[in-house]
Amino acid sequence: MKVFGPVPSRRLGYSLGVDTIPFKTCTLDCLYCQLGPTTAKTIQRKEYVPTAGILNDLEEKLKEGGRIDWITLSGSGEPTLHSGIVEIIKGIKNLTEIPVAVLTNGTLLADPAVRDGLAEADLVVPSLDAGCVETFLRVNRPHQGITFEGFINGLVEFSRVFRGRVWLEVMLLAGINDGSEELGLMAPIIRRIGPELVQLNTVERPPASSEALALGEDDLNRAGRILKGLLQGIPVDVIGEFKGNKREALKSDVSELIIDYLGRRPATLEDLSATLGLHKNEIIKYLGQLTRSGKVERIAEKGKQYYVILRG
Ligand code: SF4
Repeated sequence: MKVFGPVPSRRLGYSLGVDTIPFKTCTLDCLYCQLGPTTAKTIQRKEYVPTAGILNDLEEKLKEGGRIDWITLSGSGEPTLHSGIVEIIKGIKNLTEIPVAVLTNGTLLADPAVRDGLAEADLVVPSLDAGCVETFLRVNRPHQGITFEGFINGLVEFSRVFRGRVWLEVMLLAGINDGSEELGLMAPIIRRIGPELVQLNTVERPPASSEALALGEDDLNRAGRILKGLLQGIPVDVIGEFKGNKREALKSDVSELIIDYLGRRPATLEDLSATLGLHKNEIIKYLGQLTRSGKVERIAEKGKQYYVILRG
C-alpha cells in the first residue's frame, strides 16, 4: 500500500502518509532509525514506485473520508529519492486542498532538481542531527556520495528559496550529540538555515542500533534551553507524546491495519489503540492471534512493550 493511515502523528495531527520509496531505501542509515538498518543505501533518484499508482491509491483513500490534517510524504525511506516528486506533489494538489508536508532527511536538497521538486509543498521538515562531520558520519552514516558540507549548503539554499514553511527536526541521542559542545556547533548552522521552528526529538521506538539511547525528559528540556539560548529568536519545540483523540477505524480488517502499521514502525498497544480508534482490549485480541501465528513479536525497550513485524 502506497498510502497509509491517517495515523496520529506527534507533529502533524492526523496525517495521511504517502510512501514513495521501497522499504528502507535511503541516502542515510541513521543509528536511530525506527525502521531498522537501511537495506538499500543509495543516492540514485528514479521512479521507484509508479507515480500514477501512488496518485490512484491516494484518490481512493480520500474517497473514504474522515479527518485528515496533512498529506505527508514520508514512509519507508527517503521520499526525495523518487524522481517524480514534483508530479506527485502537483498531483496531490489537483486532488485535494489538504496541505502537503514532506518529511525528508534533507541530504538531496543539494540537488537543484530536488529543491524545485519540493517547491509546491506547504511544509518541509528536514533533519539535522550533527554540528560537525564526525557526528554526521557517526549518527547518520551517509552514502559515500554525500558530504556534510554539501548537505548543509543544500539545506541553507533550499530554505532561502522555498516559499512554504520549514521546520527543522533535530534528533538527540544520549552521549552522542546532546552535549553543549555539539549543540554549540549546530546552532550557527541552524541560524544559517533559518527555519520557522526547530523540533527537538529523541528516540522513542526501538531504533536501528542499540547505540542510539534516548534522552530523559529533563535532559531533553535542558538541551532545548541551551539551543533556544543560542538560536536568537528561532523557536525550539521539545516534542512530547501524541495526545490526539481516538478515531474511528477506517477499515474493517483490523489485523490488516495492524500489520500495515507495524510494517512501517514498531508500536505499543497504546499507539495502536490511538491509531485504530479501538479499545486496547480489542486490539490485544488481534495481537494475540498475530503473535501466535508468527507474524508479530513483542519486545521490551526502555520499560515499554513494543510490537514488531517478524520479517522473512
Ligand atoms: S531515520 Fe530517516 S533518514 Fe535516517 S535511515 Fe531512517 S529513513 Fe533514512
